[in-house]
Amino acid sequence: MSDDDRGGLHRLVAARLDEVGQLYTGNRRRLIELLADAGPSTLPELLVAGDGLAQSSAYRNLTVLAEVGVVRRLVHGGDHARWELAEELTGHHHHLVCDLCGTVVDVELPMEVESLMDRAFDAAAAAAGFDVDHHNVDILGRCADCRVTGN
Ligand SMILES: [Zn+2]
Ligand SMILES: [Zn+2]
Repeated sequence: MSDDDRGGLHRLVAARLDEVGQLYTGNRRRLIELLADAGPSTLPELLVAGDGLAQSSAYRNLTVLAEVGVVRRLVHGGDHARWELAEELTGHHHHLVCDLCGTVVDVELPMEVESLMDRAFDAAAAAAGFDVDHHNVDILGRCADCRVTGN
């Protein structure tokens, strides 16, 4: 993400917080920076990367950031939930999820694949009288580390 993009990112987060009377504090800014750098992360990972962040306030801040829609909480059945920036900030993508260690990696699919999926989902949903807003598809398997250790 370029410095310009970072500036835009921070302005958007600040505006969202301002709408609900919340301040864009240093700690909140730090969390957004860490998520922009690292992608989907657990709270323990954020605490290690964000040397000096306190667990309770980091959790509270993530919850506030999720409430205003700039951060998303991913639940994939691992020990810890993962947090990431909302797609509105990062762009539409999918997740590679390791069934063994719970690692989540962002992946983007070609535009033509996305439109094929959207058409297929629209058709399937229309048959059920359902109106589609967006899709959320995870790809499950084993990450490179878990494959090597033969878990
Ligand atoms: Zn993601
Ligand atoms: Zn997609």
